[in-house]
Amino acid sequence: MKVTLVPVTPFQQNCSIAVCESTRRAVVVDPGGDIERIIGEVERQGVTVEKILLTHGHLDHCGGAQALADYYGVKIEGPHRDDAFWIDQLAEQSKRFGFAAAQPFTPARWLAEGESVEFGGEALEVYHCPGHTPGHVVFFSRAHRLAFVGDVLFAGSIGRTDFPRGNHADLIRAIREKLWPLGDDVTFVPGHGPTSTFGAERRTNPYVGDGVSA
Ligand SMILES: [Zn+2]
Ligand SMILES: [Zn+2]
Repeated sequence: MKVTLVPVTPFQQNCSIAVCESTRRAVVVDPGGDIERIIGEVERQGVTVEKILLTHGHLDHCGGAQALADYYGVKIEGPHRDDAFWIDQLAEQSKRFGFAAAQPFTPARWLAEGESVEFGGEALEVYHCPGHTPGHVVFFSRAHRLAFVGDVLFAGSIGRTDFPRGNHADLIRAIREKLWPLGDDVTFVPGHGPTSTFGAERRTNPYVGDGVSA
């Protein structure tokens, strides 16, 4: 699996294009906007987009999802159903933040803990990690030791929890009880900023590192 990051929206959100190298089939994770840039990168690589995956319902992660799904004629999978109230507010969110107009949608499939999503010959495990938003999910490739964590965890930081239905304790618990057990060697792509590994964050993250009490 090969992953290319395409920063999109004024929030520089890390939209990811993940490609199964044996089939040249791809998923787009979190197309928040600027879909012409995503389409350009997909064309440059000459891959076939099979589906769109969403970590959570925030505008900068899913604002371009329906337009991109329409363009490729593919389905949207994720996030967890508890983020429906965020997706329902996309039109207001895009107006408030001065983004291109985004319309609400209903994913073809809501995701839940323990499920998996497939594309090409790849499988991604789904972990429900509430806290930043109640319906946030993380996608994990066990074969490639790579996770797409959205706004749960960043290099040196964690997601904000001051939004409606945010919960700091839930977020910390999700990181420690669901992400850390996947392994210190796992590289993660956060929603914003540089990639890191779970092991590096356990050693140095000032919010959720092993030396920080809950
Ligand atoms: Zn977010
Ligand atoms: Zn974000």
